[in-house]
Amino acid sequence: MPHAQSKIRVRFAPSPTGTLHIGGARTALFNFLFARHHQGEFILRIEDTDTLRNSETALKQQLDDLKWLGLEWDEGIINAQGESIGPYGPYRQSERRPLYEQYLHQLIEQGLAYYCFMSEADVESEKAACKIARQPYRPSSPDRDQPLAKALERLKQGNTAVIRFKAPETPKTYTIEDLVRGTVTFSTQEAGDFIIARTDGMPMYNFACVIDDALMEISHVFRGEEHLTNTLRQLMLFDALNLKPPVYGHASIILGASGKKLSKRDGAAACDAYREQGYLPQAVINYMALLGWNDGTEQEHYTLPELIQAFSTSGLNAAAPVFDLKKLTWLNHQHLIHLSPEDLWRKLAPWMPQTSQPPVLTTLEAWQDAFCRTVQPHLNTLLDARRIYEALCSPTLTFDEAALDVLSWPTTAGVLHAWIEGLSSTQTLTPSSFQTLLKDIQSTQGIKGKALFMPLRVAMIGMAHGTELKQLIELLPRDRLLDRARTCQQRCVS
Ligand code: GLU
Repeated sequence: MPHAQSKIRVRFAPSPTGTLHIGGARTALFNFLFARHHQGEFILRIEDTDTLRNSETALKQQLDDLKWLGLEWDEGIINAQGESIGPYGPYRQSERRPLYEQYLHQLIEQGLAYYCFMSEADVESEKAACKIARQPYRPSSPDRDQPLAKALERLKQGNTAVIRFKAPETPKTYTIEDLVRGTVTFSTQEAGDFIIARTDGMPMYNFACVIDDALMEISHVFRGEEHLTNTLRQLMLFDALNLKPPVYGHASIILGASGKKLSKRDGAAACDAYREQGYLPQAVINYMALLGWNDGTEQEHYTLPELIQAFSTSGLNAAAPVFDLKKLTWLNHQHLIHLSPEDLWRKLAPWMPQTSQPPVLTTLEAWQDAFCRTVQPHLNTLLDARRIYEALCSPTLTFDEAALDVLSWPTTAGVLHAWIEGLSSTQTLTPSSFQTLLKDIQSTQGIKGKALFMPLRVAMIGMAHGTELKQLIELLPRDRLLDRARTCQQRCVS
């Protein structure tokens, strides 16, 4: 189905019932990339018709997650207080009820929808009977052909009714050219008379979604394949209302390592968990883009502008992607190593413990710069820099397990002794005087390699592995090195 609108308008339409799942974030991303690639508009609509499950905290969290990811929208609500921007508002479905009512009445008056007074118990027993007969549930409401006047009379008497859409009696098929899955054909036989408004008049998701997509002039909808069954119902509604449906693209569900839908069991399925674990938003974006899309090249590392440039619907594919934490972590490393020291420090700073301050050698900025250059090649997440920062900044030296082992080596005491001697007779330690010192210890102690470097590293940061020694001396003043070496020596002797 070609789209009539010339302007590309896409929307992300979360329900504020929980945190932003990686699948939801990917949906937002595909819509965003498509809009930006075509200089179209990206709209944020809040689908909050399920009043029992809505949560303001969840809404706020989802907005924060989208902003953190950098998926800025052009229209929609701008904060959890409900302020919005754009000419098609309101953008919260709970505030659009009068619009929906108008279209609900239109369908009822045309005989395309009806008030259904069936009790929940009746519906449940019908469902149970269908289950036993292994048939899909199709409600058979006694009110389907009830004259409207009679239904209105019953409502006036205080009876409650949902509104059901009348599925056509003669089956009809709808065919779409899905941007991910190709030609998809639906039969109305798969849908019975479905509910479009609850007893309190609040529209159901399928109905509100159709009205909004039409009124907001949405040209394309990218969403998860779990919505395919809704798509059939939405097409039926568009048809009945004589409205034009958007072009759809249903991305395949993201699987976890277990082969089932990505869930908490596979690690973290929520976007905020990655933020909390020290992942960069650009890495999460980059990784999510690869979950169902590629540009036909071997490229894996993309910045957001590169993704916008490269994104095309021909690169979308229907094979179910498997979430691979190792790959996300690798991409995070790639993005981390491409940051400038200033940008890296800006990202790292909030993660570093505030309790202790860096030991100042020259200026604080110079220290931060040297720190970033030291840790950068080793970082998989921002959190990885914490331990070393603590080790450098803490006034006291603490030892990790591997360090304690190094302290028990028979040659360690001699290395520490020579290190203290050397430091004591050096006023300022430069990379070249440090090299000379190392050579001296090596020749006087007759020790090299691991047996030399590890005790020195332990004497600097309390850790046996990790950072290069020559970088550590840029981060610790001579007095502190001396202090630490003495602490280490005592520990070694005791
Ligand atoms: N509110 C729906 C959801 O959160 C959106 C469905 C759609 O994009 O049409 O899954």
